[in-house]
Amino acid sequence: MQSLRFKAIENLRSNTEVTVKSSVKITGIFGENVFTLKTARQFLSDEAYKSLVSSTKGGKKIDRSMGNQIANGLRAWAESKGVTHYTHWFQPLTDLSAEKHDSFFTLKGDGTPIEEFEGAALIQQEPDASSFPSGGLRATFEARGYTAWDPSSPAFIMEIGNGKTLCVPTIYVSYTGESLDAKTPLIKALVALDKAGVEVAQYFDKNVSKITATLGWEQEYFVIDAAMANARPDIMMTGRTVFGHSPAKGQQLEDHYFGAIPERIYSFMRDYEQEAYKLGIPLRTRHNEVAPSQFECAPIFEETNLAVDHNTLLMDVMARVAKRHSLVVLLHEKPFAGINGSGKHNNWSIATDTGINLLAPGKTPKTNLMFLTFFVNTIKAVHDYAGLLRASIASAGNDHRLGANEAPPAIISIFIGKYLTEVLKQVETRVGGKFDEQDEAMLKLDIHKTIPELMLDNTDRNRTSPFAFTGNKFEFRAVGSSANCAINMTVLNTIVAETLKQFKKDVDTYIEKGDKKEIAIMQVIQKYIIESKSILFEGDGYSEDWAKEAQKRGLANVKTTPLALDEYITDATKKLFKSNDIYTHAELEARHEIMLEAYIKKVQIEARTMGELATSLILPSAVKYQNVLIENINGLKASGLKEASYSSQLRVLEQISNHINAMSTGVQHMIEERKKANVITDTRQKAIAYCDNVKGKYFDEIRYHVDKLEMLVDDTHWLLPKYREMLFLR
Ligand code: ADP
Ligand code: MG
Repeated sequence: MQSLRFKAIENLRSNTEVTVKSSVKITGIFGENVFTLKTARQFLSDEAYKSLVSSTKGGKKIDRSMGNQIANGLRAWAESKGVTHYTHWFQPLTDLSAEKHDSFFTLKGDGTPIEEFEGAALIQQEPDASSFPSGGLRATFEARGYTAWDPSSPAFIMEIGNGKTLCVPTIYVSYTGESLDAKTPLIKALVALDKAGVEVAQYFDKNVSKITATLGWEQEYFVIDAAMANARPDIMMTGRTVFGHSPAKGQQLEDHYFGAIPERIYSFMRDYEQEAYKLGIPLRTRHNEVAPSQFECAPIFEETNLAVDHNTLLMDVMARVAKRHSLVVLLHEKPFAGINGSGKHNNWSIATDTGINLLAPGKTPKTNLMFLTFFVNTIKAVHDYAGLLRASIASAGNDHRLGANEAPPAIISIFIGKYLTEVLKQVETRVGGKFDEQDEAMLKLDIHKTIPELMLDNTDRNRTSPFAFTGNKFEFRAVGSSANCAINMTVLNTIVAETLKQFKKDVDTYIEKGDKKEIAIMQVIQKYIIESKSILFEGDGYSEDWAKEAQKRGLANVKTTPLALDEYITDATKKLFKSNDIYTHAELEARHEIMLEAYIKKVQIEARTMGELATSLILPSAVKYQNVLIENINGLKASGLKEASYSSQLRVLEQISNHINAMSTGVQHMIEERKKANVITDTRQKAIAYCDNVKGKYFDEIRYHVDKLEMLVDDTHWLLPKYREMLFLR
């Protein structure tokens, strides 16, 4: 029987291109499946519309009667588009979204069938949620969790095939009110940032009454043929290849990045983009990434809560649309060894309701001081909470990037460019440290005149930095490609909020002592620069030298998830989150537990997959080929030839035996380590055991021998699609 691998290769020829509507005008479909305020205006009474607007923009609670009216309007809109079902759409701690559909259809007391959608069902639901991760927060006898409508993210219609479902974005909390999802803490962090940010922004502009964090994510991903992926149980089970020898050609020719997009992929991209536009996801950019079969898309930035929903939604849409094209999207951080992995660059900034980007250098000395304030506060936040920021991006998948000689390193540092380095230096080394009235000149930091230079500086930007200033925003590049952006955005916004709060206190102290406001601000900025300059680094983040230098500077370099996660439960972290009303101690402990468990399970699944493939696919192929060699050797021997004439065959035979033995021994030992790890009751210790003893000791070892076998065994006997086939055949 032909193996799946060769069937997949043969199949490639019969892949007909899926027709994607050509030349659709984006503005014509943008947001057509979203209950935008504009749409709401058509379907709601004045009163209900007003209520929706105030809860969307001002976070005001919606009462029951308004809830009914809004729900009715939503249903009318959805039904006009052929929707029969609705769902609360939420983001549990799995990196995926969750949904449970209910129909509008119901029976009245007398059996009359009707369609209805009540306010109560819009505002709150009670999914039986005992199977979502809760880290012990939800006792098994109390399986209830609540999903509650988040009006700040608009409802949308998800089209799957011909089916259409009204999705209501919600947060997800336990019966006792603890958050069980990615969104609840994020929304709280955004509130904290708003509060702290407004107070500081008002030093400069009394008109500022609201601050929002903006997020523009760049999503990297791989796309491969679905039949190829199906023939790779490791991809199906773990999202990555646990084996596979590097192809002769990888990314060394640097011919993929920004290259011409292959036709089959191009059609897939246009297809998912159109779906995204309908959902109001403002995609803007698409291009080939560095590795073969790797691509990227990015939207126009949005308010962070919405941007997070859109990213989560897009990951789902991409996976679904890929199926139509007989493709599979790999969002894993490291699907293929030896070539680049995938990340998600989170471009982040802060904007005021007066339309100012607080991280864009201003045009006047005053606005420049405002820029400098938020800029330096961000640097200080990252410096003070670098460990927590590192923890916020920790995952089994991301360990393959961070800390594994690949971009970016596990050391958190900030790149700000030559010009701003100079500006900070000037402030830092101000003679005597004290600013006085005569320093007005100093306050006239002529940043605005140098903006063109600044931009220039940033085009030749440092790609090795995990956290880089790119002209008018920071770009957090160490986020994993499969991660939910909410996790790291919660941390980033909280630490900046905390730092701004402290900044306000510090500045006010100087003011109380009689300093002029601007002078007080400069003093504190100077203090913060001095305290946090060790986090600034302009050089090559991948280099050995940097690892050494960072150590000298006292910067952490935590390479593995179980240890990185420790930062979530330190006293400092608990205090930070509690005082900003983001997480209680219990919630933090629970999250820590959930993340450790996710790590353990992922490594466990990888280990099982490796063991199974080695034993039931690799070994049989290798043995079959050995038999061919043995037959050949015996035949040559029988025909009276000298050993020299079959020495090559003998050598290969022996090499295969050695690799089979080493591989099988490795698998045996790995299983023993797994058994030992499985009986450890402390979750953290268990995660460390999986990390160090199961993965650390055996994954590379087993893989080494399997990859050697791939090079030795007759190609026609090899069952797993090879790297060159997955990465280059379409
Ligand atoms: P690249 O980093 O590849 O050069 P771009 O400059 O196109 O990419 O920007 C990357 C992302 O940054 C886009 O999603 C863009 O919308 C986003 N972005 C731009 N300005 C801001 C901002 N003020 N806040 C948040 N994101 C922003
Ligand atoms: Mg970028």
